[in-house]
Amino acid sequence: MDLIFLIIIGGLWGSFANVCIVRLPEDKGVVSGRSNCPKCKKQINWYDNIPIISYFILNGKCRKCKKPISFQYVVVELLSIVSFVTIYLIYGFSLTTLLLIILSLGFIIIFFIDLKHFIIPDVITFPLMALGFIKSFIPNLDPIFPYYVLSLIGGVFGYGIIWGIIFFYKQVKKKEGMGLGDAKLLA
Ligand SMILES: [Zn+2]
Repeated sequence: MDLIFLIIIGGLWGSFANVCIVRLPEDKGVVSGRSNCPKCKKQINWYDNIPIISYFILNGKCRKCKKPISFQYVVVELLSIVSFVTIYLIYGFSLTTLLLIILSLGFIIIFFIDLKHFIIPDVITFPLMALGFIKSFIPNLDPIFPYYVLSLIGGVFGYGIIWGIIFFYKQVKKKEGMGLGDAKLLA
């Protein structure tokens, strides 16, 4: 029963991740506005927007314009479900699970945006950083999460390591290898 619930929640959040992946690089809001077909721009009916299932019912094509729907939508939804379920199976019904689920969703969104646009949006990394620091003050959290001093040191080092790589790469190759987005992500 728990697992069915998690699969549904994972699929829905995966669907939200898809919205973020498409809209964040275009600086569009992710909360408002119904989903549109990226090809014909027509609104997608709710029953054609069910995570994973709709893709197969529609045979991978938009109901209105018949143009192919990117299989990436399904991959993102599946990844979210697998992450949610795996984390739950390890950490059970806990705050640790919630925090790791948020982190994994952030990673999925970042991965697919970075893959296509070579950027890592601050709107994802900054809240994750803040949450990563705040959670250090929550008592009795799983020991995988460090004390706040260690959390801070880890954040600074994470940023510093990538910043250092970017700096030296620039000196040697005279071009950019990584961006500061990578530094913020590691932080
Ligand atoms: Zn369409």
